[in-house]
Amino acid sequence: MKFNYQRVNTVSEALEALSGNNETRKILAGGTDLLVMIQEHLISPGELLDISGIEELKEIGEDDGMIRLGALVTHGRIADSPLLREKALPLVESCGEVGSPQIRNLGTIGGNLVMASPSGDSIPALYVLGAEVILASNEGERSIPIEEFLIGVKKSAIRSDELLVAVIFPGMGADDRGFFRKLGQRKALAISKVSTAAIVSLRDGVIASARIALGAVATTVIRTPRTESFLVGQPLTPEVISEAARLCSEESRAITDIRSNAAYRDEMAGLLLSRGLAEIAEEN
Ligand SMILES: Cc1cc2nc3c(=O)[nH]c(=O)nc-3n(C[C@H](O)[C@H](O)[C@H](O)COP(=O)(O)OP(=O)(O)OC[C@H]3O[C@@H](n4cnc5c(N)ncnc54)[C@H](O)[C@@H]3O)c2cc1C
Repeated sequence: MKFNYQRVNTVSEALEALSGNNETRKILAGGTDLLVMIQEHLISPGELLDISGIEELKEIGEDDGMIRLGALVTHGRIADSPLLREKALPLVESCGEVGSPQIRNLGTIGGNLVMASPSGDSIPALYVLGAEVILASNEGERSIPIEEFLIGVKKSAIRSDELLVAVIFPGMGADDRGFFRKLGQRKALAISKVSTAAIVSLRDGVIASARIALGAVATTVIRTPRTESFLVGQPLTPEVISEAARLCSEESRAITDIRSNAAYRDEMAGLLLSRGLAEIAEEN
């Protein structure tokens, strides 16, 4: 297979290269999805724009409580970051479960988002963190909430002249507790059959706010608003956790596909929620 290859070292070089209309051009970051798709003849790009050398997209930063992750930050660096362990635990736990050490060292947060797979592991965590995606083009930058960025199975709102440059979200506060749990076919190197991320804010033993997101159960990641509302104002007792799990399974409305069937996914979504909440209850 033949294609043109261009390597860029700055965001402005990348945006210049992206400005010409070329539907067969593909951006190459870690290559863990793209190179597999090329190898399996699922796509045949005419041009590869290699952005992996852009240092300014590799930064993890915090400014006034807002966390900013450059698009080229790898799953491995997220999983190992003490700052993110304190401010974004569900994301740290989800990135720590991606593939294998080799995949985590290459695969990037930007690539995971643009792939827009319902089983992309970073995505439920970014939902509960309230993340926004920053897209840049020659016309400037725009920022969109993650729920509006992901519009379907492997479909995102990015345009062909745009580069995903960063993802931003408010860091978790002192009252916030969170987790990510995933169920795959095996313990390692498994794509999620179902995953659950949550952040609850605990004040004096009572839940003041709750955000829950489920991965791999629908065409995009979904939130479970009825379960979230139920939890607010409640202490984390075994009865409350069990009712939250039941509601969460009800709200999951999963799909059946080659990886798993709907009823099992619904049940597991609730079970993963109850396990995570039970651990939080134990630790507090
Ligand atoms: C063996 C194996 C196991 C895996 N296990 C998991 C897993 O457990 N969980 C999981 O979530 N994923 C898993 N993946 C998928 C993959 O590793 C991730 O989706 C990874 O985050 C992709 O990032 P990348 O940098 O490699 O993207 P690439 O492969 O370089 O690119 C993926 C897509 O995103 C586009 N893109 C990348 N960066 C940008 C950008 N900054 N702006 C615009 N477009 C961009 C590319 O053009 C391409 O369309 C696995 C993959 C393999 C091969």
